[in-house]
Amino acid sequence: MFELSEELTMVRDAAREFAERELKPRATKHDRQEHLDAEVLKLIGELGFWGLTVSEEYGGSGLGNLALSIVLEELNRGCGATGVTVSVHNSLLCSPLMKYGNAEQKKRFLPKLASGEWIGAYCLTEPGSGSDAAALSTRAVKDGDHYVLDGTKIWVTSGSMAGLALVYARTNPDVPKAKGISAFLVETSTPGCIVGKKELKCGIRGSPAVELQFDKCRVPAANMVGALDKGFPIAMDTLDGGRIGIAAQSVGIGQACLEEAISYAKVRVQFGKPIAHFQAIQHKIADMQTRLSASRMLVQKAAWLRDRGEPCGRQAAEAKLFASQTANFCADECLQIHGGAGYTDHFIAERLFRDARITEIYEGATDIQRLVIARSVIG
Ligand SMILES: Cc1cc2nc3c(=O)[nH]c(=O)nc-3n(C[C@H](O)[C@H](O)[C@H](O)COP(=O)(O)OP(=O)(O)OC[C@H]3O[C@@H](n4cnc5c(N)ncnc54)[C@H](O)[C@@H]3O)c2cc1C
Repeated sequence: MFELSEELTMVRDAAREFAERELKPRATKHDRQEHLDAEVLKLIGELGFWGLTVSEEYGGSGLGNLALSIVLEELNRGCGATGVTVSVHNSLLCSPLMKYGNAEQKKRFLPKLASGEWIGAYCLTEPGSGSDAAALSTRAVKDGDHYVLDGTKIWVTSGSMAGLALVYARTNPDVPKAKGISAFLVETSTPGCIVGKKELKCGIRGSPAVELQFDKCRVPAANMVGALDKGFPIAMDTLDGGRIGIAAQSVGIGQACLEEAISYAKVRVQFGKPIAHFQAIQHKIADMQTRLSASRMLVQKAAWLRDRGEPCGRQAAEAKLFASQTANFCADECLQIHGGAGYTDHFIAERLFRDARITEIYEGATDIQRLVIARSVIG
């Protein structure tokens, strides 16, 4: 991807301007109050960013994954907690609903998601199943024209503010574990869908991650996405898109680290000159810049492939692996360039360091990305 189209350049500029004006000044506040300002969620709706992966027919812009990755880089450059909220909403709920939902489901749910009236969540992880997602034990048992869900999901990003969640549950316990799982759209207002404990996290604290309990939660059978027992491939395909989103988040956080490091290095004077004049500092900056450029290309290539409907599992994993490591490299170097000041809350280097850390864990930890890539190339 060597040049963005005129349309994508406009989208990027709008996201950049919004992040600069509304997100950057609020990011520390979001971190301390552990939730996002309602005003921010509303403004994101006005910009159309909740509906980037929703077609125009259902109230979105239909711009797709490349546009989403470009917007996510900019939003995360301003505030990682806001960025992940938009990423999960678009890539883990709107996208699979667009791809696998039936006409009735799309008509019922997508307009509310595209406008931001409903924020979306994705419920795969459980206490006993993280990387080994197919081991999940939440049950869905048919009862007339409903399924009754029982179980506990953890780490549900936006779970406490979401209107709709895509929940994966076991519909057949008698077949190999990945073959008996189905996907359900659950309105969070449904009786028996209970918001549990909120985690106090290391970073991206403005994005609430909560436990969601399902206690005899009756979900219409009409809310099943895709076919019975065929939910796991949907979860995995969805994560390919999600990983591109987190890779874009990584580039955004890494870029913010680079910019903060440069600003500080230009004004901090030691040995009679700004530390930016020292070659050791310049080399750190050069390495950050180079790894970010490479990460951005991996992200945009994977997103472009996904928009074309081509397989992109390996490319999404490569982008996530490299970009998340780059974000953490940049966050570490940024803090180091700030010296002792970087270890305090006087500078945002400290928050960026905490925010970057999660990118190597969620939507498939680094080792899982390596596993996906190795399987693809070794066979
Ligand atoms: C802030 C946050 C938000 C999240 N949001 C969501 C969400 O919205 N929805 C959702 O469903 N989940 C969410 N998650 C869950 C997240 O996707 C999992 O934490 C992640 O997949 C890792 O699972 P785990 O934490 O159980 O780690 P584990 O699977 O227990 O892994 C522990 C370590 O072992 C390594 N490991 C595991 N298996 C292998 C293997 N085969 N080979 C080599 N190494 C291996 C891992 O790489 C990791 O380093 C979120 C998590 C966090 C922290």
